[in-house]
Amino acid sequence: MDNKRDYYEVLGVAKTATADELKKAYRKLALKYHPDKNPGDKAAEEKFKEAAEAYDVLSDADKRAKYDQWGHNMGPSGFGGGGGGFHASGMSMEDIFSQFGDIFGGGSFGGFGGFGSAAGGSARRRRQPKGSDLRIKVKLTLKEISEGVTKKLKIPRFVQCQHCAGTGAKDGTAFHTCNRCHGSGVIEHVQQTFLGPMSSTATCPECNGEGKTITQKCTYCNGEGIVKQEEVVEFTIPAGVSDGMILTLKGKGNAARHGGINGDLLIVVEELPDQELIRDGNDLIYNLMLDIPTAALGGSVEIPTVNGKARVKIPAGTQPGKVLRLRGKGLPSTEGYGTGDELVNIMVYIPENLNDKEKEAIESLRGSANTQATESVKKRIFSRLRHIFE
Ligand SMILES: [Zn+2]
Ligand SMILES: [Zn+2]
Repeated sequence: MDNKRDYYEVLGVAKTATADELKKAYRKLALKYHPDKNPGDKAAEEKFKEAAEAYDVLSDADKRAKYDQWGHNMGPSGFGGGGGGFHASGMSMEDIFSQFGDIFGGGSFGGFGGFGSAAGGSARRRRQPKGSDLRIKVKLTLKEISEGVTKKLKIPRFVQCQHCAGTGAKDGTAFHTCNRCHGSGVIEHVQQTFLGPMSSTATCPECNGEGKTITQKCTYCNGEGIVKQEEVVEFTIPAGVSDGMILTLKGKGNAARHGGINGDLLIVVEELPDQELIRDGNDLIYNLMLDIPTAALGGSVEIPTVNGKARVKIPAGTQPGKVLRLRGKGLPSTEGYGTGDELVNIMVYIPENLNDKEKEAIESLRGSANTQATESVKKRIFSRLRHIFE
């Protein structure tokens, strides 16, 4: 995964390549390295797969944007069933062939001899229509992020019409199977090409690929097979997520017209800013302002943490710029290992208004050797402005 080639390089296109250029480049490679043209050639098969994976990512605007930003080491990904990571899982031949429908014109592209009979067979089937994806934003507080949270949200989505079982036909029965394609939704051509005889399939023009013709529409969904409905969706957001992460709930998007696969529900994490704590990866930063007596004489202060208050001991002679580290008081990582720390960044407030008595008290310090930093003290403080406190 580390020595993966750049996807643009794989396809031999510029970073600015248009969808059309990508398609053309991929098409060329797919024909060149097709397993049927290179029987037993492992290297060609690898190239074939590599090109398919590159095209799979770059042809999807969303994935491409993420890839452009993160490269192969995609950052926010891979939880809850694929927030969109492309972690070298590789594509199966089935996946690759199902992609061909988009690449080789209207129909799909099967029947490369022996290979076609294995994988092309599935490519020749009617593509399952898929409902559209839904995208919602979920606002999370730092506390919710630190613990993980289960949310229940009412989401309006298209679901299958109960009255016609999603067929769009009255009672689910008022349709007849298409005579032209016998219900498959596709028609097949065999053509002579430079690669030999090749069968290609196209959407049946008679039924628009649906395989059936409705004779009487279902009145509840007006023949669509889907109806809009508010549905309560419950989902759990794992601890440690961050702003912009996407959680994918498979099949919780819109239902497809006239049957098919549901789209997905994409949950986009939005992190609400915290009043007191600043997030830095999995660490949290708290700016603590000490008064002079506490910094000079020591004491104990209460500070906020993501899950309540904590008391920290301030040693006498604490310098501004010192950082106290509260181990494990940060956020957990989504990968499940380790928890960040809370870093208490210390500042000392020099009073701007004093009464006479206070002025006198401070005046009495003037000239005292103890208020002067010696060279060795300066060296120590300046070289270690950031101490770690256990
Ligand atoms: Zn048909
Ligand atoms: Zn209906």
